[in-house]
Amino acid sequence: MQRRDFITSTAVGATALAFTGCRRAEEKQTIYINKGKKVRLKLATSWPAHFPIMGTGVDEFAKRCGELSGGTLEIKVYPKNILVPALQVFDATSAAQIDAFHSGVYYWKGKNSAFSLFGGMPLGLTSEEMITWFKFGGGYDLWREMYAKFNLYPLIGGTTGPQMGGWFKKEINSLADLQGLKMRIPGLGGEVMKRLGVNPILLPAGDIFTSLERGTIDATEWVGPYLDKMMGFDKAASFYYTGWHEPGSILEVTFNKARWEKLSSEHQAIITVATEEMTSNMLQEFRYKNAQALQEMPANVQVKVFPKEVMDAAKKALGEVLTDESIKSDDFKRVLASYEAFVKLNKPWNDISTKNFLEIRG
Ligand code: CA
Repeated sequence: MQRRDFITSTAVGATALAFTGCRRAEEKQTIYINKGKKVRLKLATSWPAHFPIMGTGVDEFAKRCGELSGGTLEIKVYPKNILVPALQVFDATSAAQIDAFHSGVYYWKGKNSAFSLFGGMPLGLTSEEMITWFKFGGGYDLWREMYAKFNLYPLIGGTTGPQMGGWFKKEINSLADLQGLKMRIPGLGGEVMKRLGVNPILLPAGDIFTSLERGTIDATEWVGPYLDKMMGFDKAASFYYTGWHEPGSILEVTFNKARWEKLSSEHQAIITVATEEMTSNMLQEFRYKNAQALQEMPANVQVKVFPKEVMDAAKKALGEVLTDESIKSDDFKRVLASYEAFVKLNKPWNDISTKNFLEIRG
C-alpha cells in the first residue's frame, strides 16, 4: 500500500467510525428514553397497612424499587382489603386485575398442595436453608414451573426466621394433655397437631386474642416474641412453647407472569435485587426484635420445650402427612423429592459446621 492510500483509507475509516459512534449513541439514547418511561405497578398485600416487619418490609421494598430505578419504577402498595381481600391476592394477580402481591406461600395449599412445601415444613429447613434450596437446590425452578400454570412468577419476599410453638393456657406434660385441645394453628403444623389429638382451628387475626382470653380456644401459635407480644398473648396465656412447626416460613412477592415478562430487564433486575434486600432485612429485623421482646416478657410467662414424647409423635405424624399428600398429588411428590434431596445433602455439613459450632459456643 502507498503511504497516500493509507492516509486516505484511514481518514475514511475514521469518518465511518465517527458516524457509527453517533448512530450508536442515538440508538442508546432512544433505548434509554423508552426504558425510562415510568412504569406503575399495583401490588396488594395480605397484611394491614404498615403491619410491623411484613407490611413495613414491603413498603420499604417498593420505595427501594423507586430509588434504584431513578424513579422509573413505581410500585404502589395496597394493604389488605383496599383493592383486594387479603386472601384473594393470588387470584387477582393470576387474573391480571393487579400486577403483583405480597403474602405467605402457605395460604395457597388449596390451589395445589405442593405449594405448602414452598412455604416451609414443620421440623424442616430453617430460613437460610430454605433460601439455599430455592436458589441452588432446584426449589425456584419447581416453584416457578408450578406457579406458571396460574400465570404467576414468584420471588422470595421475606422470611420470618424460626417461629415459636405457641401460647398454651395449661402446661403440656404429655401427649394426653393435647387431647381435644382447641388450638389456632394453620398449615402442615395444624395437620400434624390434628393427628396428635388437637382440634386445629382457623381464626382471623383480629379474633385470636379474645378467643384465647375467653377460653374459646386453649392455645394459639402466631409468629415469635415481638409480634406475639403486640397481639397481647402474654396477657391471655402463660406457657410459651418453643418452635417446631415453622422453622423458616417463606413470604413471597409474586407477579402476574405476562406483566413480569413485559418489564424491561433493568426493572426485572431491580425488583429481584430489592426482594433479596427485603428478605435479608426482614430476617435480621425479626432476629433483633424477637431477642428484645423476649427480654421484656412479663414474669408470668414461662418458656417451655414440648416433652420428647410429643415431638417424637409429631415427627411420626409428619411422616404420615407427607406420605398421604404424596399419594394424592404428583406435584407434591416431586417437590418433596427435591426438598428431601437437599435435606440429605445439607445435613452432614450442617451437623459439623453450624450445629456443632453452636453446641461448642454454648
Ligand atoms: Ca405462624
